[in-house]
Amino acid sequence: MSFTLAIVGRPNVGKSTLFNRLVGKKLALVDDQPGVTRDLREGAGKLVDLRFTVIDTAGLEEATDESLQGRMRKLTERAVDMADICLFMVDARTGITPTDEVFAEILRKRADHVLLAANKAEGRAAEGGVLEAWNLGLGEPIPLSAEHGEGLNELYSALLPLA
Ligand code: GDP
Ligand code: MG
Repeated sequence: MSFTLAIVGRPNVGKSTLFNRLVGKKLALVDDQPGVTRDLREGAGKLVDLRFTVIDTAGLEEATDESLQGRMRKLTERAVDMADICLFMVDARTGITPTDEVFAEILRKRADHVLLAANKAEGRAAEGGVLEAWNLGLGEPIPLSAEHGEGLNELYSALLPLA
């Protein structure tokens, strides 16, 4: 069975890096697809034997008149509603921020299935942040390094029972 996975979280935690890794080369033209806004990028994801649609929430990095908080909420809600599973990503190096808490609250209320990923988890510097992520109340954080391709086995194991 196929499913839709949305990667959500505040800017700069590594969402697009993971998206690129899951989508691979098929990424190239996603921005040019008709009907796909620049804020939500969609691609064909692949992880071991799983095939799924993956959504990257972008656009929060751009300056507009609307507040970051407002855009963040709208964009996240749209992604959550499109998704079967949400991968909520935090940055294990900076630890949990108040913005992360806002995301966690949206996901607790709105998402069917949430997986928590503590990204940038390569090396000792991330250990404290991974532990801190437990406090979000979204279960066990999956330590990931999207950039170095670490933790993908654990991500696969977490997705498998939900797929
Ligand atoms: P997004 O804004 O959430 O989409 O984040 P990006 O994917 O654009 O990544 C933001 C920054 O974090 C970039 O400089 C990435 O190279 C870096 N980054 C992403 N994944 C990792 C990781 O696993 N480890 C480290 N150390 N840096 C990462
Ligand atoms: Mg991005």
